[in-house]
Amino acid sequence: MKKLLVVLLMLAVMGTVVFAGSSGENSSLPTLGVAIYKFDDTFMSYVRNAIAKNAEGKANVNIVDSQNTQPTQNDQVDQFITRKVKAIAINPVDRTAAGAIITKARSANLPVVFFNREPFADDMRSWDKVYYVGAKAEESGTMQGDIAADYWIAQGKQNTVLRYIMLKGEPGHQDAELRTEYSVKQIQARGIRVQELAVDTAMWDRPRAVEKMDAFWARFGNQIDMVLCNNDDMALGVIESLKKVGIFSGGRYIPVLGVDATAPALQALAEGTLLGTVLNDAQNQGKATFDLTYALATGANPANAGWTLTDGKYVWVPYQKVTKDNFRQFQ
Ligand code: BGC
Repeated sequence: MKKLLVVLLMLAVMGTVVFAGSSGENSSLPTLGVAIYKFDDTFMSYVRNAIAKNAEGKANVNIVDSQNTQPTQNDQVDQFITRKVKAIAINPVDRTAAGAIITKARSANLPVVFFNREPFADDMRSWDKVYYVGAKAEESGTMQGDIAADYWIAQGKQNTVLRYIMLKGEPGHQDAELRTEYSVKQIQARGIRVQELAVDTAMWDRPRAVEKMDAFWARFGNQIDMVLCNNDDMALGVIESLKKVGIFSGGRYIPVLGVDATAPALQALAEGTLLGTVLNDAQNQGKATFDLTYALATGANPANAGWTLTDGKYVWVPYQKVTKDNFRQFQ
């Protein structure tokens, strides 16, 4: 009996050594803090899963939902500091808040990797332990514009004015502003004249895009030649709305374009509703975010983490065009 007690006691002690903390963490691995602007975002859930997958066996990752509220995220950063995590990866709710997060992190000498929502250049330069992982938003806009132009030209409409609706993501987000600008610029650069019927934001969100498109249809109906969306969730909302008025059946069609190449978007491509999208590479953005944060947490040189660092602190993951011709390779 005594022996058993001793063994149990020893196991308990070992247990606390191996699993320090409350959440079953492995104390022999470094702990990283990760905050996502909101869990309820399709693309960010892909990035989040990629971070978690890459961390397996290498680090404990404490991933928290900032619930689309910057003050909540600021509190979460404070908690990471109190818990003495070794490095943090932050997907800001509001990218203008990055400066305040850097100030906090710096005072605790806690390296920080931002991702998906790019801080302003001045904030990025303000400390040497600040990094960013993302994709060049201009590139996705240009690729979307090319898919749109290819379609229009293939229809023999090169000399016809293209009347479009633009559905934007969250105003101020670099991906919303630059995709909007560059997709239209590229259509024009291909020699096509355009007319913007309407532009509005649906905040990256599918149900909101359905509502907006219902209203656009009521207002413009058959004048609409194309709908350009800053992401796939909104493009899928637009398709859902257009289906209700009989588009995509009986030979009726309006091209709709998105960005991200999410699983449901690839499905829509297969069904012939979505005209095209652009791969926003969540797998590699998640991997790069983990690799850099892990390097910083373990005192390794982030330049040797397997990614090209532009200006010593930016990892740019490339986009790719996705159409009916190549979507299968992304499924
Ligand atoms: C994605 C959107 C996503 C947003 C979140 C963008 O890069 O394309 O789908 O909602 O990031 O910040």
